[in-house]
Amino acid sequence: MKESGKKEGAASSSSPCAACRLLKRKCNHDCVFAPYFPASEPHKFSNVHKVFGASNVNKMLQVHYALVQLPL
Ligand SMILES: [Zn+2]
Repeated sequence: MKESGKKEGAASSSSPCAACRLLKRKCNHDCVFAPYFPASEPHKFSNVHKVFGASNVNKMLQVHYALVQLPL
């Protein structure tokens, strides 16, 4: 079962990240999940999602993302 020779890179801008794919969200350039859950590692998000639930993950990442972007 091969995906008809289509290659998917880790830095895929067109395909949604693992989180958005699982949550059926629209993935855009400022998606908070994308840096943590690349499309190439879908199991990562499904594990986190199982443990914490989607809304908690979203909240956690938004806080983390905001902290990372602070000019400290
Ligand atoms: Zn995304």
